[in-house]
Amino acid sequence: MKVQKLNWQQARWALYLSRFDFTLKHVPDTKIGKADSLSRRLDWKVEVDKDNEDQVFIKDCWLRSLHKVVIEGLEVNIIEKIKKMRGKEKEIVRVVEKMKKAGIRALKGKEWQLEGDLVLKEGKVYVPKDEKLKVEIIWLYHDVLVAGHGGKWKTTELVTRNYWWPGVTRDVGKYVEECDMCQRMKNRMKAPAGKLKLSKVPEKPWMYLTVDFITKLLLVAGKDAILVVYDRLSKMIHFVATTEGMSVERLARLFRNNI
Ligand SMILES: [Zn+2]
Repeated sequence: MKVQKLNWQQARWALYLSRFDFTLKHVPDTKIGKADSLSRRLDWKVEVDKDNEDQVFIKDCWLRSLHKVVIEGLEVNIIEKIKKMRGKEKEIVRVVEKMKKAGIRALKGKEWQLEGDLVLKEGKVYVPKDEKLKVEIIWLYHDVLVAGHGGKWKTTELVTRNYWWPGVTRDVGKYVEECDMCQRMKNRMKAPAGKLKLSKVPEKPWMYLTVDFITKLLLVAGKDAILVVYDRLSKMIHFVATTEGMSVERLARLFRNNI
């Protein structure tokens, strides 16, 4: 074998191979059929460099399927409903028509427009005041399979691509917060708190106590609170009449004298 200077890749391989005890046996390529066929991938065939030609990246069939599910079917219904409801929003239509008659095109840019039976605000379909319809639109962009229960901002972004109404962000936020599926699937940001552990059972009575106050009571004989001391083993309870807002020292005295 010839002595040669290794490049960094060869040097790394040489170092790696030096850990093993092995001998190399040369097999001529005519006799290495099995190993050879296993190492050949289908896409390594001859003329493989030509199979990138004449390809359509976004295939027509993909577009059609998406179209059918979301836009044609359900959205057309919504647009129809909005058109029918136009009467409900006379005020908006009146304002827009007035604007047009007066020839004020520059009123807040082209913010409001009439397009056929639809009122557009900044190119988005204005949705009339109809809670059912709004919910239907949000549902379309949140619950339908393609939308996939996005979060508040994702859903808002999808809805406002085509629609607008006053308070759309708030309405979408409320809808997403109340979505039953989202509540069930929500990822917890914190680690689980751990298993519920039983409290230790005391060995003797009056070993472990719980102390609490009952306050905001009516003033009777100068007292308006009750100190409650409870033994965890015997379940015995002491009630001591006292006042709210006492000092630590008074509490200690009360405890020593009564319990
Ligand atoms: Zn959801």
